[in-house]
Amino acid sequence: MKRSFYDLNYSDLQMVLKQNDLNHTAAAILFNWHYKEKENVQCNENIAKSSLVFFQNNFNFSLPEIDTVQESNDRTVKFLFKLKDNHTIETVLIPFHNKYSICLSSQVGCAMNCSFCFTGQQGLRRNLTTSEIVGQFLQAWRWLAKNRPGEERILNIVFMGQGEPLHNFDSVKKACEIFLSKYGTSIAVRKITISTAGYIPGLKRWCREMPGVNLAFSLHSPFEEKRNELIPINKKYPLNEVLTYIDEIPVKKKQFITYEYLLIKDFNDSADDAKKVGAMLAGKSAYINLIPFNSFPGSHYERPNWDKIEKFKEVLDKFKIPTLIRIAKGEDVLAACGQLNSKAE
Ligand code: SF4
Repeated sequence: MKRSFYDLNYSDLQMVLKQNDLNHTAAAILFNWHYKEKENVQCNENIAKSSLVFFQNNFNFSLPEIDTVQESNDRTVKFLFKLKDNHTIETVLIPFHNKYSICLSSQVGCAMNCSFCFTGQQGLRRNLTTSEIVGQFLQAWRWLAKNRPGEERILNIVFMGQGEPLHNFDSVKKACEIFLSKYGTSIAVRKITISTAGYIPGLKRWCREMPGVNLAFSLHSPFEEKRNELIPINKKYPLNEVLTYIDEIPVKKKQFITYEYLLIKDFNDSADDAKKVGAMLAGKSAYINLIPFNSFPGSHYERPNWDKIEKFKEVLDKFKIPTLIRIAKGEDVLAACGQLNSKAE
């Protein structure tokens, strides 16, 4: 089977050219055409025929297929992608002022089994390859160019779709290298955010291998026992240990670690929960996203009322921690946080 071109980062591509005695200048031209131009225009650059023939003969250029597209009332777009082995994954485009953030999946299903998450109910089927991760971005961009011309501006990338990105570290890292490459999509490093439930083997590699990329940590409770219920891997990688690794991550000026906090009615939404979170994060480069729980079929949790949500935030405000209540987008097409589950479509 031919290797996917989209599994190559820039240095892999240079290496392939070198090993096959091909002109090294083809690397920049090919990367530029596939990622910057997104093959939208003719590749007019001066590239040796021998290089083109080599890639045509030895690599495949296929991308995940768009199976279905659901557009929400608020213009959020949810894609169901079909992969070569017929597995499916979901990707979400979230609009803000004619620009978009893209929420990428990193695995088919997820092994973390979080009790509040629709994806977690699937279990892990397999890791995505780099080409399947990058392919979500390219296909979503092309869909925008065709269906919302002039709006094909995807400026933020968040790994918050299906899967635990740090559990598929190598493919996610290589996808980020392609996104960051000046010859690739050249997304700014501060525009990429990777979310983790607290997978310590990945966090251990973070400092050395993901410098500058934003980290979002799914906190959801400051108490180990409640966290054990919400995020079962907390039993293996307890919160207090996870926080020591997160505290070691160098954070630049004006950069924050984002702490995601899913607010669940009568479970983790009390003033005591908020005070404990405040005490835990006060003085750190922390930013808290409060996410009112998004229900999905079969879930036994509920969303607190608005008054309770605001009171929770007021407690955190006293600790002077920047806190945002994140209003869900795309809820009507089950595209909000924790609602993705390709299997149930
Ligand atoms: S919340 Fe994230 S880590 Fe947890 S099961 Fe869902 S996809 Fe996996």
